[in-house]
Amino acid sequence: MAKTPNRILLSEDRIPTQWYNLRADMPTKPAPLIHPGTKEELPEEALYPIFCKELAHQELDNESRYVEIPEEVQEAYRTFRPSPLHRAYRLEKLLDTPARIYYKFEGNNTSGSHKLNSALAQAYYAKAEGLRGLTTETGAGQWGTALAMACAFFRLPLTVYMVKGSYNQKPYRRSIIQTFGAEIIASPSDTTNAGRAILAHDPETTGSLGCAISEAIEKAVSSEGYRYVLGSVLNQVLLHQSVIGLESKAQLESVDEYPDIIVGCAGGGSNLGGLIAPFMADKLTGRANPRMIAVEPASCPSFTRGTYKYDFCDTGKMTPLAKMYTLGSDFIPGANHAGGLRYHGMSPILSTLYHEGDLEAVAYEQTNVFEAAMQFARTEGILPAPESSHAIRGAVNEALKCKESGEAKCILFGLTGTGYFDMLAYEQYLNGTMTDTIPTDEELAKYINA
Ligand SMILES: *Cc1c(COP(=O)(O)O)cnc(C)c1O
Repeated sequence: MAKTPNRILLSEDRIPTQWYNLRADMPTKPAPLIHPGTKEELPEEALYPIFCKELAHQELDNESRYVEIPEEVQEAYRTFRPSPLHRAYRLEKLLDTPARIYYKFEGNNTSGSHKLNSALAQAYYAKAEGLRGLTTETGAGQWGTALAMACAFFRLPLTVYMVKGSYNQKPYRRSIIQTFGAEIIASPSDTTNAGRAILAHDPETTGSLGCAISEAIEKAVSSEGYRYVLGSVLNQVLLHQSVIGLESKAQLESVDEYPDIIVGCAGGGSNLGGLIAPFMADKLTGRANPRMIAVEPASCPSFTRGTYKYDFCDTGKMTPLAKMYTLGSDFIPGANHAGGLRYHGMSPILSTLYHEGDLEAVAYEQTNVFEAAMQFARTEGILPAPESSHAIRGAVNEALKCKESGEAKCILFGLTGTGYFDMLAYEQYLNGTMTDTIPTDEELAKYINA
């Protein structure tokens, strides 16, 4: 048998022309968004002040199995897709495992992560609807970078609220976002009521994603012709990210493989939701039965220690309520947490799958995650993002179990991005100053009951 190549490439004409909407095949649909006051289900029109129309439609569409990818978005995808699927031969050898490990690499576009897949779609629809501009938040900076690039492509003004801690720690992220032409503001800021309220309460705060979301929404709803866009969690974002899974499935098929285990990191759930979508469809319809595993940080354990309930998507409590696994909208992971994936909630789609027992979840401490990142960098020659390194840890652990049992399983994991702006975290790991925090049950109870 011919040896599987190191990089399994697809020709450009194999880029998906439709996104796949997993909700159409879910027997239990994700719970609807509800109004925080009336607790009533929100109709599509109620979302128009926040999202542009097509995206509001996609957000609530549980029926359409496939959604056409607009030609302009396909054309933008062609500048960096199909993304490569790698066989991790050198990592397998290091681990001395009989498992076959594959990873889908989404970090080889300029913005450095999978977030560009949804950013291009969201910027396109906003432009097509004739909007004047967009606002968003960014934590570590990948979403802000991806959206700034997408807005540059479609010539739309953009204001990015960047979590203050990252803003100060990652000046070069800031410069990239500005290079693509977007305005960037450290959050909390004095440009919004939400920001001013948080600053009055805690002037020294380094900010949080939830708080930056509140500011970006406030700015959008108070600026004529502006809308807010979000890079994760939402159903529409998981839809756009299905290109990851569709391509991966075709790439594996081209070498006669089907994964036994699929592993992805989970912050808000978008890359994992996209990666697993077509495989989860096989599972839900009985065609195959792969295990799918979400990996989250022990310092922000939404799945493994969160509560499944209706919660706000932001700290300012301005968004509709979404039913999801959550740590409480005021939850902020410990200040020593450098490893990304800091969001308090989780995609309602993935929350439903986890609740139904179709998706597993594990949580790892960041030093453990960086140890796997080192093994990966030194064998595969790619500097992984801290977020992506959670998936590496998960895949490595599964490969080590195969070593124990002697089973030659096929493992697929999502390598969501590169870590060139996370060198401070790498430095901490390398010089031994990185620490782990695991919130106590008492701390978690305080936030979930807030
Ligand atoms: C944002 C991000 C994540 C986490 O977001 P999800 O929505 O859970 O996918 C993971 N990896 C990278 C590189 C990111 O930028």
